Amino acid sequence: MAISSNVLGIVLRSYPLGEKDRILVLLTSEQGKLRVVAKGARRPGGRFAALEPLVEVQAAVHPGKGLYTLTQASIITSHREVREQLERLAYGLFMAELMDLFTVDAEVRAVSYDLLSRALSCLEQDQPEKLLAYFSTQLLRQMGLLPAWESCSACQGERQLVALNLPEGGLICAACAKKLGGLPVDQPTLLLLQYFAQVGWDGYGAVSGESHTLKLSRLLEQFMFYQLSTRPHSYDFLNSVRQH
Ligand SMILES: [Zn+2]
Repeated sequence: MAISSNVLGIVLRSYPLGEKDRILVLLTSEQGKLRVVAKGARRPGGRFAALEPLVEVQAAVHPGKGLYTLTQASIITSHREVREQLERLAYGLFMAELMDLFTVDAEVRAVSYDLLSRALSCLEQDQPEKLLAYFSTQLLRQMGLLPAWESCSACQGERQLVALNLPEGGLICAACAKKLGGLPVDQPTLLLLQYFAQVGWDGYGAVSGESHTLKLSRLLEQFMFYQLSTRPHSYDFLNSVRQH
C-alpha cells in the first residue's frame, strides 16, 4: 500500500486542474520535484488556496498514479516581503523557474532546495542582481554546467580569456573570439564568477558593488538560456520591472 510522506517543499509553479483544484510543482528537500494535486486550491478561501508560487510548506503527500495528492500543508514562510514587491517577486519567480527548468523530477537533491530556499530569504532584503548572479553561479555549479575557464575553450591555449562563447561552453581567448565571436567578459567579472563558484553564503555576503554583479548576472542569463535551449516565461516580467 502506498504510504503518505512528509516533505519540505517550495511551490515552483502551479496550474489549474478542473474548476476547483490545482497542480503544484513542489521542489522538495526529500524527494526531488513532485507534482501534487491540491484539492480546492482554486476556490477562494479553500484549504490550499494560499499555496502560491514561492511559498514554502511542510506538506503531507500521498502517492497516486503519476501525481501525488496533498493531504496536509502548513506554511513555513510565504516570503511575504518578496511577494508584495513587484520587482522582488519578478526575481523570485525567475529563480524558481530556472530551478524548475534545470532540474529533472527524481534527480533533484536537497542542495537544490537549500539553494532556492536561502535565495528567497535573501531576496527579502538583498540587492537582487547580486543575488541572481550568485544563485545562477551556484545553480550551474550544482548541475555541473559552469562555463569552463581553465584554458581557452576553443584552442586550449593558456591565454587571457576575454569572451564567453556559448557553443564552446566556456571562456575563450582574444584570437578565438575574433574568429568565433562571443560575449565580452572583463577580468573583474570573470574573477567574480570564479569567486562565486567557490564560496558559500558568507562569501556571497562579503561582496559589495553593483556593476560587476550586474554584468555577471546578464552574462550567465545568456549562458543558461543557451544551455536550456529556451528562455523562461518569467524573463519578460523580470525585464519589465528590472531597474537596469
Ligand atoms: Zn583560443
